[in-house]
Amino acid sequence: MPPVSNKAKQRLMAEARKYVKLVARYLKTAAPKIKIAAFPQNAIASWPWIKGAYDSTTNTIYIAKMYPFRDVREFKAIIKHEIAEWLSYLVTGKIMHRVVYGHSDSLFRRIYSAVHRYYPKSPEKLAQYVEKISMQEHD
Ligand SMILES: [Zn+2]
Repeated sequence: MPPVSNKAKQRLMAEARKYVKLVARYLKTAAPKIKIAAFPQNAIASWPWIKGAYDSTTNTIYIAKMYPFRDVREFKAIIKHEIAEWLSYLVTGKIMHRVVYGHSDSLFRRIYSAVHRYYPKSPEKLAQYVEKISMQEHD
């Protein structure tokens, strides 16, 4: 299978931007920017590859420029993953460094599966879910 073309990446990122805007509007917060970025780590070593990252200080989702995404499905998966990182940060307000410590915290797992359920069709349902678990977290 050919790697994901730039055109396909742009299309998928446009879809993601539209989606996070709707989720953010519902949650009355700012939508993250979504950008392609070069990760210096990927230039010096091919493992572990960094596919993407969410930076809470700039509210930006970065997708790795040099990562050889196998197909559209893999590219979409990293977008969904980083949307889950964004929403987890919104709920906790904490930077979790999951890239180092792993993704097994239950809050991330729950949000991650909700993103899989509701992306890209139901931004409102995802926002409602995040609102609900946010209230549980802050009880
Ligand atoms: Zn992650």
